[in-house]
Amino acid sequence: MNSNDSSTSLIMIFGATGDLAKRKLYPSLYHLYKKGKLADHFAVIGTARRPWSHEEFRENIKDSIHSFVGADEQIDDFSSHFYYQPHDVTDSDSYIQLKTLAEELDTKYSLQGNRIFYLAMAPEFFGTIADHLKADGLTDTTGFKRLVIEKPFGHDLESAEQLNAQIRQSFPEEEIYRIDHYLGKAMVQNIEVIRFANAFFEPLWNNRYISNIQITSSEKLGVEERARYYETSGALRDMVQNHMLQMLALLAMEPPIRLTTDEIRSEKVKVFRALRPIEGNEVNEYFVRGQYGPGTIDKNEVVGYRDEMNVDPDSQTETFVAGKLMIDNFRWAGVPFYIRTGKRMTTKSTKIVIQFKDIPMNLYNNNEQLQPNLLVIHIQPDEGITLHLNAKKSGQNMQTNPVKLNFSNEGSNGINTPEAYEKLLYDCLHGDATNFTHWDEVALSWKFVDKISEVWEQTNSEIPKYASGTMGPEEAEKLIENDGFFWWNLNDLDVENCD
Ligand code: NAD
Repeated sequence: MNSNDSSTSLIMIFGATGDLAKRKLYPSLYHLYKKGKLADHFAVIGTARRPWSHEEFRENIKDSIHSFVGADEQIDDFSSHFYYQPHDVTDSDSYIQLKTLAEELDTKYSLQGNRIFYLAMAPEFFGTIADHLKADGLTDTTGFKRLVIEKPFGHDLESAEQLNAQIRQSFPEEEIYRIDHYLGKAMVQNIEVIRFANAFFEPLWNNRYISNIQITSSEKLGVEERARYYETSGALRDMVQNHMLQMLALLAMEPPIRLTTDEIRSEKVKVFRALRPIEGNEVNEYFVRGQYGPGTIDKNEVVGYRDEMNVDPDSQTETFVAGKLMIDNFRWAGVPFYIRTGKRMTTKSTKIVIQFKDIPMNLYNNNEQLQPNLLVIHIQPDEGITLHLNAKKSGQNMQTNPVKLNFSNEGSNGINTPEAYEKLLYDCLHGDATNFTHWDEVALSWKFVDKISEVWEQTNSEIPKYASGTMGPEEAEKLIENDGFFWWNLNDLDVENCD
């Protein structure tokens, strides 16, 4: 086991019995442990309301590893580092007990007072927990302190500002790690490398050569058990404010002068500052919303959003958003960035399509229409890059044939490709905040999104519907067709459909 880069820290998970902890956090910690990135000097305290013992908690950790990882080598050693503390987030006594346990474990595992506080709980508790951590002395320690916060960070700019102000009473900005798990995805991290480590993309990466960029994140699933949260959020707040705008920033930013957290973040912030604000009447010109009706997914009939459990039968919540975003700077003036995200769509896929402009003159016009060059970045479930080119058809004549050069990340890294949460936990243990969102990014993206939700919330007309199993309402097609483009069909672009 290589313990050179193994981490020394106490990790406190608030919401330890929850879905996120079970499905993502424990499997990720286990992977890090197996790779020697968490060796002897780590301990985890799980807190939640249930009155579990340490042993019961460890059994649950083992169950989670069985279910989501499968393998269970070293599982007893691994789970022996886990401790449980029943907890009420609003009660100071709970934090005092937690502090006592933290200090015991600090000594037992020689943790040097390093502490990560991971808030895997409903967002209404984020501020309260941060207050108590400081007031009840848990941040009073000699080592590093890092607060990891799940999304959503606020509901709009105003609530995000309030939450931020509250948290900043206890933690300075550099100790706050706001999770956007898309930033942990291998191919999202690869956007930067593709752009800045290849001589032939960067010279073309501008309004002279790119005609438009399309970012789609579609799900087949409906709202499932998340209706209570989703009814107050909708796709705009759930997906666009964070994940979609983060991908856009990585695609559009200038090359940073160095690959440091501050330099990268400052380039991303400049993109958000250059985003053309869409407000008032323009909202309906630039943005389309939709809500899924009944339809067919994988040959099964599914109900519409309004018939889902815990959804208001007259709900106006959007389960789909498409938008056209303009970045008003030298590099991108005139290039539309189209985004599209929704539930109950035809396919589960996150892809970015960079469409290059047509060449100035088609010498092969007599034969076939030349296809535009595309660079497709496959984010999930496939991971890879495809480059769409035109080549000569075999035979005597000079006809062209579209060909695809394909790189599949799965093929090269196999099953060892770390999951997003594993990467983000590793970064946090090492104090690397590059792939977490800075407050300035959060604030600017809320400012942009708020202008759209304000208009939608004041609109009396019925929200456009789309049948489950389709790619959204007709209006989304018109949005892009009005500019002379069309959405690329994601299934056609799939890695397995590449030559
Ligand atoms: P969950 O409802 O499954 O779990 C919530 C946890 O909080 C439970 O352990 C519960 O016991 C604990 N809890 C609730 N009230 C408490 C109280 N008063 N005192 C002490 N403990 C209390 O939620 P989840 O799905 O795990 O989500 C947690 C956070 O992560 C949320 O902010 C969510 O938006 C975010 N998130 C979740 C996912 C996911 O895949 N589940 C994905 C992205 C973000």
